[in-house]
Amino acid sequence: ANTAKTNFLSAMSHDIRTPMNAIMGMTAIAQANLRSPDKVHDCLEKINVSSRHLLSLINDILDISKIENGKNDLLFERVDLPELLQDITDMCRPLIDEKHLNFQFSATQIRHEKVMTDGNHLRQVFVNLLSNAIKYTPAGGSIGLTVLELPSGMPDTNTYEFVFSDDGIGISEDFLHRIFVPFARAEDPRANSIQGTGLGLAIAENIVHMMNGTIHVQSEQGAGSRFTVTVPLELSMEGDVLDTVLLDRRVLIVDSDLDVCDGAASLLNELGLRVSCSTSGADAVSQLNAAHDDGDDFFAVIVDCELLGPDCLITVRHIREKMGEYCPRLVVSSFEHSNADADLRAAGVSAFIIKPLFKSKMVHVLQSLCQESFSQDEVRIQDTRSVLSGKRMLLAEDNELNREIAVELLRMYGILVDTVENGRQAVETFYRSSPGYYDCILMDIQMPVMDGYMATERIRSLVNEDAMSIPIIAMTANAFVSDIGKARSAGMNDHVAKPIDVDRLLNVLQRWLR
Ligand code: ADP
Repeated sequence: ANTAKTNFLSAMSHDIRTPMNAIMGMTAIAQANLRSPDKVHDCLEKINVSSRHLLSLINDILDISKIENGKNDLLFERVDLPELLQDITDMCRPLIDEKHLNFQFSATQIRHEKVMTDGNHLRQVFVNLLSNAIKYTPAGGSIGLTVLELPSGMPDTNTYEFVFSDDGIGISEDFLHRIFVPFARAEDPRANSIQGTGLGLAIAENIVHMMNGTIHVQSEQGAGSRFTVTVPLELSMEGDVLDTVLLDRRVLIVDSDLDVCDGAASLLNELGLRVSCSTSGADAVSQLNAAHDDGDDFFAVIVDCELLGPDCLITVRHIREKMGEYCPRLVVSSFEHSNADADLRAAGVSAFIIKPLFKSKMVHVLQSLCQESFSQDEVRIQDTRSVLSGKRMLLAEDNELNREIAVELLRMYGILVDTVENGRQAVETFYRSSPGYYDCILMDIQMPVMDGYMATERIRSLVNEDAMSIPIIAMTANAFVSDIGKARSAGMNDHVAKPIDVDRLLNVLQRWLR
């Protein structure tokens, strides 16, 4: 402990003395050159740089001593990960641009974006790792950040992995063993001119350990480095509330990276949208055309502009031209707004998403597009009337008032409705019906005697010819994503939330009764 303390103090006094000497020296030079504004200006600049460095060093030393004394308590607060990561990349963006680095940021499968942790400390770790990647990578190189959410085996907690990679100067095998030691800096001539205190990683490691996580580094001199932070994070338990305007909407994601595409698609599918992927403009157009021929048009297309590069504008124009008046809403995704944004708008793009495609961002953009497209939907409802008129439905709903509302709404569209008051009556009524008599069953979930899940399972196992094929649509007051999963596994085809949104109900019926 004594040796460690002595090493620490001597390293600290050396590191404090260096900028302090610069400040005092430059002050003396400035005083001697008061008549030469250029010289004074130059000295003040240097004093400014050194004093900032000294301040960050003092902050780091205070931080590390607080951590080592166990005085650094972690907060436990709700943190929005996409927001936190966006803050960090925004903060580092000027440095990235200045060095013309290629920055790839990928987070394809983040199901839970809100977690319980200490946001400021997590941010401190990430800023250090990202700014190191920038500092130790020569201009024109590449850096990356990849975020993954993995099961942890603990209840309500998942493991999050944050990987910071670069193809910069790398770290020698010898130094790798000491990299987390306070004040340790590589003796690399290429790194000598780079400002640093050798405290950042020591602090980062301490914080990650306090969070019960780990930090690992893999590196090869000259070939770049890869720092992996793995932390278990408690999930902030809020179900994803379904927004009925988005349910069932079809979205096409065009991205040349199929993994990104599949990741984003599965996030949105879980929310009740219907999402397909495409890896090229030509394929996108043929999928859009096929959907149009089926009478099941896509609502929006999200085109990735990062990987398609200059072809992005061509792809967008191509889609617009080929789809004409049936063109879905066009959304462009990229890592930052580019100079081509105005051209893209002119080519018909309605909205932009900054990558990576986090669930919340996609939902936000798609929702705002829905609000704009109500007038288009009215035209669709006109068609709906002709598809639905004359169809016969069995409605199982225990609440008399709800029953009356549903019957009234459905009759307005020419639908014939028989009603029952619970699941058992639904099973019996369907059992006695001749094949094809009912076109569809609307099933409440919570009912006395027998609930909707059980009734659906019973209906599916009946001997009636149409027992397996009749569409059964759940109506439930709970609008959480997990309820949809439950309804589907009981054998229901679809789901509408109560209070009933007429447009959404008609949309669903139209699809199943076509
Ligand atoms: P600082 O960057 O302030 O010197 P750190 O504790 O953050 O301090 O890093 C310690 C040392 O580890 C750095 O001085 C550098 O030699 C090495 N290092 C850290 N990150 C990288 C990286 N991404 N590439 C190469 N070397 C790195």
